[in-house]
Amino acid sequence: MTTITLVQGDITRQTADAIVNAANSSLLGGGGVDGAIHRRGGPAILDECRKLRASQYAEGLPTGRAVATTAGALDARWVIHTVGPVFSPTEDRSDLLASCHREALRVADELGARTVAFPAISTGVYRWPMEDAARIAVATVRAADTSVEEVSFVLFDDRAYALFAAQLG
Ligand code: ADP
Repeated sequence: MTTITLVQGDITRQTADAIVNAANSSLLGGGGVDGAIHRRGGPAILDECRKLRASQYAEGLPTGRAVATTAGALDARWVIHTVGPVFSPTEDRSDLLASCHREALRVADELGARTVAFPAISTGVYRWPMEDAARIAVATVRAADTSVEEVSFVLFDDRAYALFAAQLG
């Protein structure tokens, strides 16, 4: 059984075996969570991301997939980068958002990570409505077949925290 906990705050301040990054497919940094992770984690993370771009992800990391690097100076062993879908009002991309959570947990299992911190993937620059993102994130983690013991969702503000809390009921 995976325990789900909620934390309000900055994901780069968390202690966990693995911290999930809401990356973009370039793996070369961006705003929001991605920018914060690279700022606080330092250049070792970007170095490994560049190596991934020079090898198995020459075209970038596809949406819905996940890959791990060092966590650099963060209080974690790994960063698991995953690329959320951009929200579309006309096309249902929920499967891709669910896939981010499943794939991140699959990578965590491969690494042997037991505690994993997730941000609210796709809810920033990618504009996914928070309530729906919370529903998909919580349902997918609950349904996942994983050895991860604790998933924490780290929410930046009160509203996001309340919407995730409502899903945990
Ligand atoms: P995406 O591109 O997948 O939408 P963002 O990083 O833009 O990802 O935003 C994802 C969510 O993370 C948003 O709800 C945003 O408010 C929140 N967020 C931004 N910075 C942080 C942080 N340092 N820690 C936790 N959550 C953050």
